[in-house]
Amino acid sequence: MSTLFPHTLREDPAGAESPGHRLLIRAGYVRRVAPGIYTWLPLGYRVLRNVERIVREEMEAIGSQEVHFPALAPGELFAASGRLAMYGDLLFRLTDRKSVSYVLGPTHEELFTTLVRDELSSYKDYPLALFQIQTKYRDEARPRAGVLRGREFLMKDGYTFDLDEAGFERAYERHRAAYIRIFERIGLDFRVVAAMSGAMGGTASEEFLAPSADGEDTFVHCASCGYAANTEAVRIAVPPARDGRAEPPIDILATPDTPTIDSLVARLRELYPDRDLGAADTLKNVVLKTRQPGATEWELLIVGVPGDREVDLVRVAGALDPVEVAPADAADLAAQPALVKGYIGPQGLPDIRYVVDPLVAPGTSWVTGANVIDRHAANVVRGRDFEPAGEIGAAALRDDDRCVSCGQPLSIARGIEVGHIFDLGRRFSDTFGLDALGPDGKPVGIAMGCYGLGVSRVVGALAEQSHDENGLIWPREVAPADVHLVLAGNKDDVRETTESAAAALDRAGLRILLDDRTVSTGVKFADAELLGAPTVVVFGRGLANGEVELRDRRTGERSDVPLVELESWLRDQWAAS
Ligand code: ATP
Ligand code: MG
Repeated sequence: MSTLFPHTLREDPAGAESPGHRLLIRAGYVRRVAPGIYTWLPLGYRVLRNVERIVREEMEAIGSQEVHFPALAPGELFAASGRLAMYGDLLFRLTDRKSVSYVLGPTHEELFTTLVRDELSSYKDYPLALFQIQTKYRDEARPRAGVLRGREFLMKDGYTFDLDEAGFERAYERHRAAYIRIFERIGLDFRVVAAMSGAMGGTASEEFLAPSADGEDTFVHCASCGYAANTEAVRIAVPPARDGRAEPPIDILATPDTPTIDSLVARLRELYPDRDLGAADTLKNVVLKTRQPGATEWELLIVGVPGDREVDLVRVAGALDPVEVAPADAADLAAQPALVKGYIGPQGLPDIRYVVDPLVAPGTSWVTGANVIDRHAANVVRGRDFEPAGEIGAAALRDDDRCVSCGQPLSIARGIEVGHIFDLGRRFSDTFGLDALGPDGKPVGIAMGCYGLGVSRVVGALAEQSHDENGLIWPREVAPADVHLVLAGNKDDVRETTESAAAALDRAGLRILLDDRTVSTGVKFADAELLGAPTVVVFGRGLANGEVELRDRRTGERSDVPLVELESWLRDQWAAS
């Protein structure tokens, strides 16, 4: 520690957005260079490499082979796959001296697919699994919380290549199991949740989320049957479809001055004193706009949700990805005089795409806008009075929502996406002509899977999950050191004993951080807690009796241990943890 670069910080850094990020900076693990661009300092780089090592070992253990692509990739490959347009502003683009366009790879499907296409030709060459651990570039709109959402970051991306669906499914299961081992070894608390695969093709898609209040993803979990899903992909229990044809006919109601759902409900109670109508009986129609990837034109989209819920734009964006979505503004509405603000109803809408949340089930009856100022319509029935163009999960979830598979209550929590595995289908193999000659001489299209893991984000996620008010608490396998030795006091003989114990532990293969500085013991203890090695050993007064003090960083437990038995105590403690 007397030579360690850099010094720890006493004060919280300005502008750090989350507890983990703040501690990573204070402890001297990372430093910001520009928004979303960070430098790894010596201890932080150790943690990063430990995560990387675990990922590499487990990928190799399932027979995936490591390659390393350039980050700088020809723009034409991304044009061919359509992702130049799809990624839009997220791509870092550049032009070389000959005016040829390049991108800094955001992920590498294009390069993997064309490499395999150019190298292999026979069905005998398959199945194949490849991965790389590499720097990725994305010009994120909102880089956040240091290494959690960077514009330059380290990702493991893996791909599988199979001759058929059954082969893909085996590859997927192997990767899923490897991911579980990886996150268990890393010591991260995680959940596997159903996810959307966006426009990327097939159906299987799961995310690995690290529960954390600072996560940007929201997921639901059912304690009773284990169902778990990202809110982008979640399905909740909805009312059953019914035959609404026999409902009373539409009633047009005079509802002046009812700009809000509450004021509308108050008016409905006057109009229908015995029907006990509430916000949940009203249909709210929210005007959004969407834009196809690469297009400049926006199109309007109206989404219907029960009036006691908001529209959750994150869910809508997840359902429509890669189509872009935004709220419509006053100018968009002004261009459509048929849309009467505050009084929109799906019955007799002009030619605008209208979709509903599945909570607006077939045959259900609603009070909604009459498309006339100061008028609402009651008894408006889905399937009789209007037919949506489709259903998308758009309603904000609530904590009284119930599980789609068992009907029990769901819980909602936030998490950090640390991995995403999914079926690519034949999207890329078709685009780039990747196929294999089958035994009958006919070409077989290759089924691909994609397996991403945010290596640098994992370090940020660990810091969010595993700390207390005094500092970081690293799980053993990724910690920058196994033991942090604190030399308490300044007596020469204590210093000698400590240094020779450190050397002995080092020779025994333990990773040691030795605080040999001449600062106060209090400062040393504070730094030991801040840096977060799992075990701290104090060399101080106890040495008079041949003892040192072991402190468990996580539990705070202390025990006096004979110095001669220190190594075996440490090993026993780890075997138990
Ligand atoms: P997010 O929804 O968080 O933007 P993504 O869906 O764009 O993630 P993928 O394209 O599936 O992510 O990338 C694979 C993995 O790479 C993610 O699961 C995540 O762990 C990591 N990752 C993605 N973007 C970033 C980033 N900007 N900074 C750090 N890690 C990232
Ligand atoms: Mg992203």
